[in-house]
Amino acid sequence: MGLTALEIYKHLPKKNCTECGVPTCLAFAMQLASLKVKLEACPYVTEQAKAALAASSAPPIRLVKIGTGPNEVGIGDEVVLFRHDKTFFHPTALAGMVLDTSPEADIAAGAAGLNSLRTERVGLMMKLDMIAVRAAAGDPARFAHAVSVVRSKSDLPLVLVSDSAAAMEAGLKVAGKDRPLIHAATAANWEAMTKLAKDNKCPLAITAPGLDALSDLAAKVKGAGVEDIVLDIGEMPMGKALETLTALRRLTIKKSNRAVGYPVLMLVKDDELAPMRAALGVMKYASAVILERVDPATLYPLMTLRQNIYTDPQKPIQVKAGIYEIGKPTDGSPLMFTTNFSLTFFTVQGDIEKSKSPAYLMVLDTEGLSVMTAFAAGKLTPEMVEKMLNESGIKARLGHRKLIIPGIVARMSGKLCELTSWEVVVGPRDSSGIPSFMKTWK
Ligand code: SF4
Repeated sequence: MGLTALEIYKHLPKKNCTECGVPTCLAFAMQLASLKVKLEACPYVTEQAKAALAASSAPPIRLVKIGTGPNEVGIGDEVVLFRHDKTFFHPTALAGMVLDTSPEADIAAGAAGLNSLRTERVGLMMKLDMIAVRAAAGDPARFAHAVSVVRSKSDLPLVLVSDSAAAMEAGLKVAGKDRPLIHAATAANWEAMTKLAKDNKCPLAITAPGLDALSDLAAKVKGAGVEDIVLDIGEMPMGKALETLTALRRLTIKKSNRAVGYPVLMLVKDDELAPMRAALGVMKYASAVILERVDPATLYPLMTLRQNIYTDPQKPIQVKAGIYEIGKPTDGSPLMFTTNFSLTFFTVQGDIEKSKSPAYLMVLDTEGLSVMTAFAAGKLTPEMVEKMLNESGIKARLGHRKLIIPGIVARMSGKLCELTSWEVVVGPRDSSGIPSFMKTWK
């Protein structure tokens, strides 16, 4: 259990200097107790106090890293129950699976296919994070060969799936240095699996029926020297899975229960409810979801769902402010403006592309707010537009002085006209109207 605010306060310097960004040491202690700040924010904490407060400042859910190098994936280290309380930090890692019982050519094609499943949305690349290889045959040599085939086709982190310690050892001989996730230790094999995880310095997934059994097994594995633990809740009906995942998150965040303070994994078997199960995991606290079968038609919506949930609600995804060329505009091409909220930018950009009319798009920095929200909040004003027209260099690239503004902020047209002496043309209220607007606006 974590320390209370008063217990933490006793160890703080009590200077009330505000350097941590909080008015008093007591307020800082309260925030630390509720995990809203990190201890390092106070520069005056003594080494002695740091040691005493370590339990309180440690993340309630351990950060576990899988893989190495640029594709390394971190799971866990969440500090809130609801994203609007702060934000979620480590998006659910998604994995596809190949079986060692498949013909070699299918294993190779499967791994290459999973590796290439990626798409861009609002300027961010979405892809699978890991590939799971399952020892379905229980034959160590076959498993080792399948792991090496997958490794030759993808450098994504691996999850080695087998309850046979002999098969796992063979798989680890091939890929152990790449820090795969070992899946999984059970009540029956945990000693052998823990030894493999320890010897190879790999994270270890554990699975057991029920929270008590899971917590007991985690304690045994930790006691044997493996700290990087991932909890697999096992197969259960969806309602039960939701209840279990929520209970685990509540135990760690609200009760500071370190015995289950590890990221949670769901293995989603291939049935008609698989997309629902995977979506449930992404929405409600699974740090990793392994899909027995990956269908792009359900994977891409799943990745979109994940992107939406793991976007910081206080920091909308933004693009860089500036002048963007769409197509190959000339000095006679239209000039439009929008804001730097990614979703707005990419929607407007797409609609201009659809119109097949090259254009300049002037993107204003509204701190990631959409056009209407920014206008209502005073973060999109005629003065800002005028300033950008003058300072962006766009005037020298145009042979005209016409500016198309979003129809939704038509009311700024008079003031803008007055400030700039440009002809201000009111465009469509919704960017989907851009293609037809472009045909007629001149
Ligand atoms: Fe207190 Fe440290 Fe914050 Fe200063 S920086 S107010 S000493 S907690």
